[in-house]
Amino acid sequence: MSAHPTIGDTLEGTVDRYPDRDAIIYPRKDQRWTYAEFDERVNQLASVFLDLGIKKGDRVATVLHNGSEMALTVYACAKIGAIFTPLNFRLPSGEIEYIVADADAELVLFESATREAVEGARPNLAVDDYVYIDDDRDEVPDGAHGFYDLLESGSPDRPDVRVDEDDVYAFIYTSGTTGRPKGVVHEHRSMVEHNLLCIAELNLTRDDVGLSMMPLYHCAELHCNLFPRVHRGAASVIHHEFEPAAALEAIDDHDVTVLFAAPTAWNALSMTAAEMDVDVSSLRVGLYGAAPMPEQVLENCRDQLCEDYVQAYGMTEIGPAGVFQSPDDQVPKQGSAGLPALNHRLRIVDPDADPDQAVADGEIGEILISSPCVMREYWNRPEATERSLREADGTTWYYTGDLGYRDDDGYLYVVDRKDDMIVSGGENVYPAEVEDVLFAHESVEEAAVVGEPDEEWGERVVTYVVGDDVSADELDAFVLESDQLADFKRPRAYYFVDDLPKNPSGKIQKFKLREDEAAIDPEAETVT
Ligand code: ATP
Ligand code: MG
Repeated sequence: MSAHPTIGDTLEGTVDRYPDRDAIIYPRKDQRWTYAEFDERVNQLASVFLDLGIKKGDRVATVLHNGSEMALTVYACAKIGAIFTPLNFRLPSGEIEYIVADADAELVLFESATREAVEGARPNLAVDDYVYIDDDRDEVPDGAHGFYDLLESGSPDRPDVRVDEDDVYAFIYTSGTTGRPKGVVHEHRSMVEHNLLCIAELNLTRDDVGLSMMPLYHCAELHCNLFPRVHRGAASVIHHEFEPAAALEAIDDHDVTVLFAAPTAWNALSMTAAEMDVDVSSLRVGLYGAAPMPEQVLENCRDQLCEDYVQAYGMTEIGPAGVFQSPDDQVPKQGSAGLPALNHRLRIVDPDADPDQAVADGEIGEILISSPCVMREYWNRPEATERSLREADGTTWYYTGDLGYRDDDGYLYVVDRKDDMIVSGGENVYPAEVEDVLFAHESVEEAAVVGEPDEEWGERVVTYVVGDDVSADELDAFVLESDQLADFKRPRAYYFVDDLPKNPSGKIQKFKLREDEAAIDPEAETVT
C-alpha cells in the first residue's frame, strides 16, 4: 500500500488490528464472519473478478438489495481498483439500461429480486459478464455465473494490484430527483476522509454494532455507516431490506448500538416498538438524514428507542455527509441541519446575483460547501461538473442547488431546492413552507407545490394533492385559517391526483410536474 490508505487498506488495517472480531453478520444466510474471514472472502472475490478479465478502472455494477455479497463486492472492487457502481434495486429495465450504458460497465451482479428487471435490460447492453447471487443455489440464469460457485474458486491471497489514494473508487449515481441520475466520480482518498469524520461524529468504537437496513446502494448507508464501521473495527449486521419489526428484533438479538434510518423509517420503528415487546436498550445513537426529523417523531423515538440522535445533511456529490447536527443540538436547534463537519466550510450566496456574493446571516441563499470528500467530477457531464464545482478564495466550492440560511450561531437551515423555488410577482415562495401547512390537514396524504407560468405574476403557486374527501375550497379555507402564509404564497389552484411522480427512493420529482403537467391528467380546481 502507498502511505495514504485506499478503501481496501481501511479493511486490511482492521484485519491487522482485530482479525477475530465480528465483521459481518448476515442472518438471512446464517453468515457470521470475523474480519479475517471477511477479508479472505473479499480476496477470493477480487481474484474471481481478475479471472473474469476485470482490470483496474473497469466498472462493476450491482443491482442488489443489501447482503453480505454487496459488502464483499465493494471491497473486492476497491482492492483491484475496479470502479464500484451500485444501482438502486428498484430501477425498472429502462433505467438499468441507461445507467449501465452510461457507466459502460463490464460486469453486472444481480439476484432473484432484481432478475426480471436486469433480464429486461440485457438484450440492449454490451456487458461482458453477469454474476447472479444464487440465493439457495437456485437456478442461475442462462449466460450468467453463479456468485457462490465463483467465490469458492477464488484465491484467498491478497490481489497483486497497486491502487492509489487518487484512483477512482466508485461511480455513485444521484437519486434522480431533479433530472436523470448523474454518475458521481469518487476517489479513494475522499472516502477514507469521509470515514474518519463519520467515526468522529458518531464516536464509533470497536465495540459498536451497527445494523444496515437502509439500502447499501445509496451512499448514506454505505459511506456513513458500513464503511466507517469496517474502518474502525466495529461489527455490521446486514438486513436484506427494511422491515421495522425484524429490525427491532435484530437490535435486541445482536445488541445493536448504532443505527441509521431516514426520518420516515425512524417514525415506523418508533410506532412498531410501541406495540412490541423488545429490548432495544443497547441502542446508544441514531443517525438520520435526507430531511429534518419532525419534532413529534423525534420525541417518539426518544421515548421508544434511544436518547441521542445525529442528523447529517449532504448529497451524493460530497460523500454525502458535510453538515452534522449533534445530539445536544436536536432540541434547541430543532429544524436545523447543524454545523459543518470537520474540515468542511459553508457559504451561503445570493442565487440571483453574483455567485460569489455571500449573504448575511439569516438571509436565504444557495448553500455552497467546501469539502475534502467532494467528487472529482460527474461522469461524462463536463458542463454539469463546471456548474457545480467552482474555485474561489483558494478553495473548491460545491454548489449544492439547495437553498438555506445560517442563524446567528452559524447553524444551517435547509429551506428547499433552488430549482423548486417559485417567483410570483417578484416574491420568492419556498414550496416546502407551503407544503408543511397543507400536511397538517388530515385529508392530505401528499402535497407538491410548484410554480406554473402565469402572464400576470410570472409564476403562480399551484398544488398537486393526493387525498380523499377534500375540495380545493376546503384546502384554501384551511390555508387562510392557519394564518401562516402570506397571500402571495397561497396556492391559486389545487390539482387532485392519484399519485405523484417519484424517483425510486420515494422523493417527488417536481421537474416532471412542471414539464409534463398534462401527463398526469389533473382535474384543476382553481380557487381564486
Ligand atoms: P438528483 O441530484 O439526481 O436530483 P438528489 O439530489 O435527491 O437527486 P441525493 O444526493 O440522494 O440525490 O440527495 C441529496 C439531497 O437531499 C440534497 O441536495 C438535499 O436537497 C436533500 N437532503 C439531504 N439531507 C438533508 C437534510 N438533512 N435536510 C434536508 N434536506 C436534505
Ligand atoms: Mg442532487
